[in-house]
Amino acid sequence: MDIRALAAEYGFAECYVFPTESFKHYERRLKSGALHSAGKSLISDPAETQPWANAIVVLIYPYRPYSDEIPVSGNYPSSNAAYHASGKMMRKLAEIGIHAERAEVPMRELLIRNGVGVMLKNGLTALPKFGTRYSARALFVDLPEIKYTQPEIQEAARCEHCQACERICPSNAISKDGYDFQRCARSYMGGDPMENWVMDAMTCILGCELCQKVCPYNIGIEPLLEMPEAFRLESLLSGKVKPALEIVGKNLNKQGRLMQHACVIAAKQGRADLIPLIEPLCEDSREGVRVAAEYALKKLYADRD
Ligand code: SF4
Ligand code: SF4
Repeated sequence: MDIRALAAEYGFAECYVFPTESFKHYERRLKSGALHSAGKSLISDPAETQPWANAIVVLIYPYRPYSDEIPVSGNYPSSNAAYHASGKMMRKLAEIGIHAERAEVPMRELLIRNGVGVMLKNGLTALPKFGTRYSARALFVDLPEIKYTQPEIQEAARCEHCQACERICPSNAISKDGYDFQRCARSYMGGDPMENWVMDAMTCILGCELCQKVCPYNIGIEPLLEMPEAFRLESLLSGKVKPALEIVGKNLNKQGRLMQHACVIAAKQGRADLIPLIEPLCEDSREGVRVAAEYALKKLYADRD
């Protein structure tokens, strides 16, 4: 059974096979308090929790970002598609007698320690063929035959002579010392009411794309020029979020997150025509939606006056 060929059948452009060593760096960071809450539930010692597994397979699903005119993060559609494709692949593996389970492990450490990923100053991990524009899914597997992926990285990260992301980051989250998630605006766009500085930094629905946009590792990745209908601001502000959630993942609408983000983007685009859709949201039961609607109206009224 060729696991790489099987991954390609499910739409993955790359498939790495790595040993199941424990994640020492992650454990150290966990103890020091340097991790975002989202990263605290990962598996750090597979030998203890998945003793049956003899490899971690990492599946890479590259994506193209949307062009500047289209204010939607390309990451989430790809992440959602990768999630479902890896689920289908797991079922196929089960059919042919190979046990596989999702591996929620420290992905960055896994890619870097095995010599396929480059650690970047902006907190992301570049893969030479895909830059930072990819989603990665990992599976614990019990393969009948294993051929581990060999290291690919030959050169030091370009970060040493580059400050592009440091200069453009609107919340000063990147410095010569690296990335500080506590200062990254993207860390606060998960659905809880957003502070003004976070909304000021937002460049698109579901995120901030600036540090990836300027990164030389992403040069040459052609952006998508067409916006999916599901992300039209009129639809999101009217509460028609289901089609967008089908694309980005059903769990991404905590506290009306998509509606919140649509308010902010409407303000940034100067869409005064959307004021009638935003005004009723100031009475919404969800605090996050009310806060974003008030932010948007303040800006749109100021533009109009
Ligand atoms: S923009 Fe430059 S400094 Fe920032 S992560 Fe990319 S290469 Fe490194
Ligand atoms: S996502 Fe935005 S706020 Fe966060 S580090 Fe990158 S540029 Fe800064």
